[in-house]
Amino acid sequence: MKNLEKNLYNPYFSHIYVEKEALEYFKASEIIKKFPDSEIIEISHYKDVFSRVHQNCTIQKKSPKLILAVKKDHLIYEGATVCEDFGNNHFYYTSTMMNCIYDCEYCYLQGMYSTANIVVFVNIEDVFSEVEKVLAKHSVYLSVSYDTDILALEHVIGHGKRWIEFSKNHKNLKIELRTKSANFKAIEDMISQENFILSWTLSPDKIIRSHENRTPFLTERLFDVKEAIRKGWQVRLCFDPLIYAKGWRGFYKEMIEKVFSEVPAEKILDISIGVFRVSKDYLMRMKKQRSDSVILNYPFKSVDGVCSYDKKLAQDMVCYIYDLVKKYIAEDKIYT
Ligand code: SF4
Repeated sequence: MKNLEKNLYNPYFSHIYVEKEALEYFKASEIIKKFPDSEIIEISHYKDVFSRVHQNCTIQKKSPKLILAVKKDHLIYEGATVCEDFGNNHFYYTSTMMNCIYDCEYCYLQGMYSTANIVVFVNIEDVFSEVEKVLAKHSVYLSVSYDTDILALEHVIGHGKRWIEFSKNHKNLKIELRTKSANFKAIEDMISQENFILSWTLSPDKIIRSHENRTPFLTERLFDVKEAIRKGWQVRLCFDPLIYAKGWRGFYKEMIEKVFSEVPAEKILDISIGVFRVSKDYLMRMKKQRSDSVILNYPFKSVDGVCSYDKKLAQDMVCYIYDLVKKYIAEDKIYT
């Protein structure tokens, strides 16, 4: 039955929507060449497809389409205050892609976008120019895998490598690329940069299996973490978002012990810990998309428009993980 269901859907990226203007970019033709069997559909603006109303993300996740576009505005954003800046001044983020190949049940992108289709902006050079304008005024800490997971699609898009090259020539720029992938192989030929942080979100296998559809298991992510460290990269580990489920203490403890039995703790740049939190509006839309989700139907508390576990549970979870982690990592390297 499962196979039957699989065969009923088109393969990933069976259709590629391309803005007329994007067709003029080398990156667009490079990507299109990788999908010789896909149907190419010319469009005038990515939002005509991406932002249509009445789309069903859950169904689209089974067979997402690719949209190639030219980014015209908001090339970089200032980081929101709810986001961890790891002690850096001038925190910015940029989205050279929108949406993600993975399908985490708790992903806020389901509340942010009305589709599961993926947009790739083919004019990354314009984003570079915008970053350079800000760099002319002050240093920048830039998160480049925001609202997406760029390493997961590196073999198709190649934006990770472009950012690594860019960071090489801009020493007052610090970049973080965050991922749940096990796709380090796609960038392993690059030389590690002091100002480029590879950051892995780690979850217990119990959470991965039940709620992080299509993401690699913990062992696979850890394999990449170790490879990246071995090749001299700055590596951050993110235990964020912590997800409440029955028996959470047990499976999070097991995960932390596994992580530090394999990864040399002294080589880790820093760690972040945080519980699941999302804007009230996004949560409402997420629940519509996944009405049967146990995670999303938790009776969250809303404070200033942000929904999360009640204060006591949130503190219990963060403190519990913090206490486990501090056995291995100096406390000034742990961000909560
Ligand atoms: S990996 Fe991150 S961005 Fe991708 S679906 Fe999961 S939570 Fe969303």
